[in-house]
Amino acid sequence: MAIREEDIGQMNAALKNRLLCLGIRAPEDVKTGRKAGAGPAGGKYLEVGESIVNAPIYGFSENSPISLDFFDGNYCLSENEDKCAAELIQEPSFYSEKTSDGILMKRIALQHGKHCLATTVCQKCLYWRKGNECHFCGIELSLKYDTTIPLKTPDQLTEVALRAWEERLTHCTLTTGTSSLDDRGARVLAESSRALKDNTRMEIHVQLEPVDRERIEFLKQSGADTIGIHVESLDQSVFEEKCPGKAHQWTRYWDAWKDAVEVFGDNQVSSYVIIGMGEDEETTKEGIEKMCEQGVIPFLVPLRPINGTKMENAAPPAPEVMLDYYSHAIGCMKVYGIDPQKNKAGCVRCGACSALGDFYEESHAL
Ligand code: SF4
Repeated sequence: MAIREEDIGQMNAALKNRLLCLGIRAPEDVKTGRKAGAGPAGGKYLEVGESIVNAPIYGFSENSPISLDFFDGNYCLSENEDKCAAELIQEPSFYSEKTSDGILMKRIALQHGKHCLATTVCQKCLYWRKGNECHFCGIELSLKYDTTIPLKTPDQLTEVALRAWEERLTHCTLTTGTSSLDDRGARVLAESSRALKDNTRMEIHVQLEPVDRERIEFLKQSGADTIGIHVESLDQSVFEEKCPGKAHQWTRYWDAWKDAVEVFGDNQVSSYVIIGMGEDEETTKEGIEKMCEQGVIPFLVPLRPINGTKMENAAPPAPEVMLDYYSHAIGCMKVYGIDPQKNKAGCVRCGACSALGDFYEESHAL
């Protein structure tokens, strides 16, 4: 399916799904974004109509049937003869400014999508020390490429967030490497969250491994509005193989999600579910339904192989595969009354890495 007449001027969910799975061929001067990091790195943020996409531009994307072209003074997505207007989201001006302790602000936090400020508070993960990091994750590559610093202080984050707010960034994703087996990074997230809550008007999303209820409550009390406890794969064998460091956490997700929903409330708990790592379809779909039943938003994303990671040569799933999972998830979300549009902050609200929210919205417009 090529870009269609009706896609022009608007991002429909099907087009976004294809962009996320296939990527785009982008001109060299556009390829300036981060190539590594936590989360789906190696992309460029585009705005098409009302929707934002974090479109892959490296590696496998070089074979994409869709290209980003400069045409008549504007960017557009092209596929064969079809074209669709797209806007490149420009870097915010605070990137070139420094914090009062002299650190370039873009080394502290980045703009994700259009309105989300995102940072990896602690860029080090102990699983990397042991060589059993998650196979898809590039968190420490950012340190290797010297694009960030190992630990961001609450003061630095506050300073950047106040500048980012002036550029209409209104919510914040705080993620972390697993800095200790004791608290899984909860303490540094809570300190950052507290500082942002006390000093800015940003809504805050925190992400970490399963932790006990006390720590989940601690994060909520620190000012976090939403939480992501990421299972990555709902197929146990895939989880254990691709996330060897945290494989021992498998049985803790369901309790942690239950506690988190009780503490954070409806529609405020989510988990990345990466599709394309060899997971069993039936098991994954059962898991998605169970998550929805428990009140957890299954934030489905296609695998994004990042250069330098153990999965750099893997291929993302076909758009048709993702479409099937999205449809299943939307059906489950409707049955169990989950509404991603009510999520206050972070990845679900940003939505640039998944077409879940777009398909959900379209299904309600029918
Ligand atoms: S969904 Fe948005 S905030 Fe989350 S990793 Fe993707 S771009 Fe960043």
